[in-house]
Amino acid sequence: MRQDQEDPYQRRSAQVYAAADRAGSGSVASPPPVLYDAVLLDRDGTLIEDVPYNGDPEKVRPVPGARAALDRLRAAGLRLAIVTNQSGLARGYFTGEQMRAVHARVEELLGPFDAWLVCPHDDADGCDCRKPAPGLVHAAARELGTTASRCVLVGDIGRDVAAALAAGAAGVLVPTPVTRPEEIAAAGWVASDLPSAVDEIVRRQQAVQPSTPPGEPVRTALVVRSDSAGDVLVTGPAIRAVAAGAQRVVLLCGPRGRAAANLLPGVDEIIEHPLPWIDPTPGPVDPQAIRDLTARLGATGADQAVVFTSFHQSALPLALLLRMAGIDRIAAISDDYPGSLLDVRHRVPVGVPEPERALSLAAAAGHRLPDGDEPVLRLRRDAVPPRPADLGDPGYVVLHPGSAASSRACPPELATRIVGALADAGHRVLVTGGPDERAVTARVAAAGGIDLGGRTDLAGLAAIVADASAVVVGNTGPAHLAAATGVPVVSLFAPTVPFGQWGPYRVPAVRLGDAAGPCRDTRAASCPVPGHPCLSGIDPEQVVDALRTLTLSGGGGR
Ligand SMILES: [Zn+2]
Repeated sequence: MRQDQEDPYQRRSAQVYAAADRAGSGSVASPPPVLYDAVLLDRDGTLIEDVPYNGDPEKVRPVPGARAALDRLRAAGLRLAIVTNQSGLARGYFTGEQMRAVHARVEELLGPFDAWLVCPHDDADGCDCRKPAPGLVHAAARELGTTASRCVLVGDIGRDVAAALAAGAAGVLVPTPVTRPEEIAAAGWVASDLPSAVDEIVRRQQAVQPSTPPGEPVRTALVVRSDSAGDVLVTGPAIRAVAAGAQRVVLLCGPRGRAAANLLPGVDEIIEHPLPWIDPTPGPVDPQAIRDLTARLGATGADQAVVFTSFHQSALPLALLLRMAGIDRIAAISDDYPGSLLDVRHRVPVGVPEPERALSLAAAAGHRLPDGDEPVLRLRRDAVPPRPADLGDPGYVVLHPGSAASSRACPPELATRIVGALADAGHRVLVTGGPDERAVTARVAAAGGIDLGGRTDLAGLAAIVADASAVVVGNTGPAHLAAATGVPVVSLFAPTVPFGQWGPYRVPAVRLGDAAGPCRDTRAASCPVPGHPCLSGIDPEQVVDALRTLTLSGGGGR
């Protein structure tokens, strides 16, 4: 697993000038924030009106509501930095002195910033800091004494969001009339203006902090996450939060999520049982099986249950069983009216990343991650076996073409071309897949990779992923395994579900594919459009470029 990598980046190439250390963010008594320490802001078009190559302080015009919005962030204890491309320096359109005068005027109008980070280069310079490269984001995080994954960046174009993702930070797009439609489609988090971006940042931060003390101590907590491996993995941070507030945690999962459940820290006992109202290919309801499940749930002696679901899954049938099993503190997300089935009925807006959605439910049930535990996906080290010795040194690229849902899989023909391009670029490529994907992995690996199809179970795959320099994968379980081991992801993301909810969480990533494709938001399991165009249009050279971007400043963000 990756440790914190202090990348040697950037004082050499970025102009970094921190404001004098402005001590004192947040109050002394409040616990450390769960999600973010800092907000990074693009300058032109985001904070102030875009005046091309402006060297004149008199032309600085803040966007509407900017001062009040920034003051709300300051009051919430968040540190602020500006991250801005200023190629006008490289082109000689204005001097460093003129730029500093502009920045002094910005602070006069908008209040102080804790750091200013400027890329003075042009695209042709090939530097590590010009957005969409992640260098400025890493440098800002370091300047503010935190890490990129604890930062959220607000910007007005795709370059801003791409830089944030490539660093492992969150990215909010606030479009202007010049923002391209495809950039808006690709962004996982879009706000209509700066004040609403700020309100949502503060809301998400508060949503994962319990507003009330947990009340009665919890002896045994029953947590529930049915569905597949990826669903179970993204619920991991929330389950660790519950575990921090309970003496014992029992996890109810389905057969398709069992292998992932075995990998989760904080789980003391697992009950495996399919839930016919959740499973995508359910069998008929068996009354005796439901009676048996109810009895097993009651036998846990749980004094609290937290039922995790994703959008469009209902927690209420299980809540009824939990009531019948005698469990009397039940929390779940439900837009549907729950009657007396829930003690904590939680609601979450659309678009929140699944791990945060689950963490906010844990918070509503009185739990938060303990200090020092980051809200990242994690695996139990003792559950991951040693990596097979015959794979050679770490640092290879893992390509995982398959997915249980074919709409989210990389088309084999494209995967084959990607392997060829990566091999030509000098990468060692391991092609992974399940036992039923052997024919595909063999065909794909023949283009220049090593075929590992059918060789590993999920834990064995985790071991292989953990030593990769990056994983190239669709929106499927191994993307979340990569996130859980701190390995960067080139995400071949079919837009059938929102990227903002299901993209690789808090790990450096590059998103590829047509985000505006006709399958967008269909939630289709198999692609409804002939030729699978959202992914088949990816150029393998984009994958090669993405790997270069992800390794620019040390890759892993932890
Ligand atoms: Zn630069």
